[in-house]
Amino acid sequence: LNCVKAAEKILLGQESTKSYLPISGDPLYAAEVQKLIFGEDSEVISAGRAVTAHAPGGTGALRVGGDLLKKFYPNAKVWISKPTWANHKGVFTTSGFPLAEYAYYNAGTKSLDFQGMVKDLEGVPAGDIVLLHACCHNPSGVDLSADQWQKVAAISAEKGWVPFLDFAYQGFGEGLEADRAGIEAFAAIGVDFYISSSYSKNFGLYNERTGAISVVTPNAAEAAVAMSHLKATIRVIYSNPPAHGGLVVATILSTPELRKQWLEELAGMRNRIKAMRVALVEGLTARGVKGDFSSITSQRGMFSFSGLSDEVVQWLRANKSIYVVAGGRINLAGLTEANIGYVCDAIAEATRS
Ligand code: PMP
Repeated sequence: LNCVKAAEKILLGQESTKSYLPISGDPLYAAEVQKLIFGEDSEVISAGRAVTAHAPGGTGALRVGGDLLKKFYPNAKVWISKPTWANHKGVFTTSGFPLAEYAYYNAGTKSLDFQGMVKDLEGVPAGDIVLLHACCHNPSGVDLSADQWQKVAAISAEKGWVPFLDFAYQGFGEGLEADRAGIEAFAAIGVDFYISSSYSKNFGLYNERTGAISVVTPNAAEAAVAMSHLKATIRVIYSNPPAHGGLVVATILSTPELRKQWLEELAGMRNRIKAMRVALVEGLTARGVKGDFSSITSQRGMFSFSGLSDEVVQWLRANKSIYVVAGGRINLAGLTEANIGYVCDAIAEATRS
């Protein structure tokens, strides 16, 4: 992003040391991350009841969270959505947890199975951990509404399971504020919860490993305890985080002109992906491709379940060099004005043959 390049110029000129960062990373980064994920005026921030540490990407944040939770909930299961991002399984299994699944995506209706989800979450025992996608569910692109988040947060308070929200796509759904509806629901209900956030996508900082693990507790005293456990967990995995990506994010968010530029660039990415969703559906319809693809435009984020069969997926790869994940998940960000016609033609041919 241009805002990243501008921040890097500033940082390069100012850099005066290659000393280690603190175990939890740069404090300005943590403060800016909290404003982003909770909202500047959030009571969570004013009460000082959350702590945040820089982790190497969203994956690193999930793993730190997993290892920390294992210390306190050694007999817990981790509940993942059906389906979920494949790496969730590996991360939490490696932290030592058995997994269980809760209902999420209904392939028949191509939408959220909220009834099934509620039923399953009501059956999760106290002390188990429930991993939720805060927005832009990967792989389905199907999200909860703000009301549905409130219902899920109320279930967690009633049943006593531990929410862990994976927030890898803030700003790719509806916008920074709307995308944090899930976080707000859990913050309002006052339960302890965990958030892994990633700045790989929304700042385009993929190779800088820029993420954060946050723990929300009932009060500042407990937050301090949580930070001490977070640091002990991080210390034995990677000691302290890489500096560059966090400094870039902190510089952008704390510099008004760069922040404005970032918001524009983020909206540009979000709107471009949305335009590609529309272009894909229109392109397929115009070519008479059979099937109902309308859900592609109602799903959010970078991914969609296209509904393409595995046979078609394989044909596209073998004959057209178009790569779709088995199960039909497409990455909309891979579509451009230049290749959308080729992709629609190829799908039309694949579904005819
Ligand atoms: N969670 C989800 C749902 C993701 O899709 C991803 C990235 N694909 C991550 C976490 C990990 O993010 P990072 O690349 O920052 O490790």
